[in-house]
Amino acid sequence: MTLRSHQPTGLRVGGRNRKPPVLPVLLGLSLVANAWFLWAWAPKAPNAAEVDPALAAATQGVAASLDAAPAVAAVAPAAAGAPTVEGAPPVEGTAPVEPVAVAPGDPKAGHIIIDGAVSRGFVAALGDEGERVALTASRLLNWNLDLTKDPRKGDVTDVLYRLSADGDPEVTIDAVRYQSKKFDKVYEAYRFQPDGWAFPAWFDASGVEVPGRLKGGPIADYEEITSLIGDGRGHAGMDFKAPVGSPVTAPFAGTVTRVNWNWKYNGNCLEMKRSDGSIVRFLHLSEVQDGIKAGTRVTVGQRIAASGNTGRSSAPHLHYEIKSSSDRTLDPLKVHGVSRRSLPEGSQGAFQARVAAVRAKWTAAAE
Ligand SMILES: [Zn+2]
Repeated sequence: MTLRSHQPTGLRVGGRNRKPPVLPVLLGLSLVANAWFLWAWAPKAPNAAEVDPALAAATQGVAASLDAAPAVAAVAPAAAGAPTVEGAPPVEGTAPVEPVAVAPGDPKAGHIIIDGAVSRGFVAALGDEGERVALTASRLLNWNLDLTKDPRKGDVTDVLYRLSADGDPEVTIDAVRYQSKKFDKVYEAYRFQPDGWAFPAWFDASGVEVPGRLKGGPIADYEEITSLIGDGRGHAGMDFKAPVGSPVTAPFAGTVTRVNWNWKYNGNCLEMKRSDGSIVRFLHLSEVQDGIKAGTRVTVGQRIAASGNTGRSSAPHLHYEIKSSSDRTLDPLKVHGVSRRSLPEGSQGAFQARVAAVRAKWTAAAE
């Protein structure tokens, strides 16, 4: 990872050295989360698909910093629709701090009592790394909660996480639990890899997957979704973190309109058009399937490419975007619909043991 210069400083919310405006902080967690995703995983110029080369060249410096710090684009619209949030202003130092293991890669438990901004609670409990833990954990919580609106003073959240051993900024969330006063409900996500699954996934305590999956999506095996539409950054696509070479299939029938344009930004890429006129794009591929070129008709499920890390991409992932015939960004979650996998029956025992072990760690951390 070489993206430290792309750190989303404009959106940092727990920084010790500055006091950001309270409202954007409260509103911004999910937005910031996505700034984080993109810093960690997204192409450095997420809008490059639509940018013609001349414009891209002219705005290159801006594009790079926008990707990392879309403070204006991200915060302003949210502030415009500012909900009243209880529990402000943030108060620091309200959460008990678990004495944490020091070795990178060791799981650490955190117990956070919300009193103001969610991210600030994480920082109060976990120190500097609390910010990125909050941002990564929010990817999971955001499937059930709107962290810009739903948190209430006195909500409690527990997290079990690991830092990368090599100094990589990536955080692995082993588990997160959020006790919401607003909904009088507990939301949980436990990372677990059932036998035969390509990657671990996150399940609630009943064994239902927490993140949604696109029905008929273009990539079957991916590690996680790291960016969604509407994450406040003007990012036009969904990002799927996946190893280089993961098969990409046509989610719809259609005709290929172009491949490998604007290579500097998009890397190997493919664009197709559906019969309704909408446009579907796949960026940062390791390769476009042999024989596929402009004019090729593709059928649903046909292998068209392999995911990669080409162009302005900071880590292996597939960027997938859908534009209406009038060039409006469509949300693949809405276009496709979403499904969730359930834990296979044979994995229930091991999973429940895992849940119990994690909860025991949280209990210890809260004492
Ligand atoms: Zn993307």
